[in-house]
Amino acid sequence: MEKKLIGVDLGGTTVKFAILTETGEIQQKWSIETNVLDEGSHIVPDIIDSINHHIQLFDMTADQFSGIGMGSPGTVDRANGTVIGAYNLNWKTLQNVQSEIEAGTQITFAIDNDANVAALGERWKGAGEDDDEVAFITLGTGVGGGIIANGKLVHGVAGAGGEIGHITVEPNGYMCTCGKRGCLEQYASATGVVRVARDMAEEFAGQSKLKEMLDDGQEITSKLVFDLAKDNDALGKMVVDRVSYYLGLACGNLGNMLNPAYIVIGGGVSAAGTFLLDQVTKYFKQFSFPTVRSSTSLKLAQLGNEAGVIGAASLARQFIK
Ligand SMILES: [Zn+2]
Repeated sequence: MEKKLIGVDLGGTTVKFAILTETGEIQQKWSIETNVLDEGSHIVPDIIDSINHHIQLFDMTADQFSGIGMGSPGTVDRANGTVIGAYNLNWKTLQNVQSEIEAGTQITFAIDNDANVAALGERWKGAGEDDDEVAFITLGTGVGGGIIANGKLVHGVAGAGGEIGHITVEPNGYMCTCGKRGCLEQYASATGVVRVARDMAEEFAGQSKLKEMLDDGQEITSKLVFDLAKDNDALGKMVVDRVSYYLGLACGNLGNMLNPAYIVIGGGVSAAGTFLLDQVTKYFKQFSFPTVRSSTSLKLAQLGNEAGVIGAASLARQFIK
């Protein structure tokens, strides 16, 4: 009988779970709230209980699973199966995630960081078409990324490989939470887009609903900026052009460095769809050299928030016998 995989996508508000076949078809999925109280000490026990409960519920046993894979925020030590510094989980101290989950479920376990895991998901079952060369950028509250080269995730010496959000796109630009200036995240995240809009509004003199709303102190979201730009708002269009320029610059340099088959753009901001993708592609073509321009293509992510559980499950494929 074919064994199954379990994917766990650990986030600050929910933990998503899925049971998948070894070929990546989701058979069951569920989620629980993330209980971050008491230094996040309930999170791992809750995950263990939920997995055991659902295995029982589906009339299955632990030996029917090849493994569990999980994506986590924070700094992940893959070799030791630990996580530290996941502040949205209240995990300030070292968490022995792997040893506890393996002891609690009797299933082999693997872990990586959440952006890398989402990249694996899009590569395996989404826009990456299971190619060995895929770069993934997620535009959300922050900007995350994951790079698959020669079929493997790039981790770097300290696990910071693929931190696309901290590519410098504007020397001496906005200060980033990392302590450096001009990071892509400061321009292309949901809050970055709003910040760009606010700054450009100051210099803008023409007719614009976006400018009126900003001057009026109204609440602005990145979605509103894109919606107004689609409606031909003059300032809105300038903001989207500027954000697309920064994204296109980062994608051009990723392309020149890695020449992936696909650069996949996902996350909440990418809900702007082909309206955003087409403008980013224009700048990508400007900033990439001919071979890259003709062989690397930009695509929108396809899995939405299922990328996490699918990618997490793919970590457990290494345990398939
Ligand atoms: Zn930064």
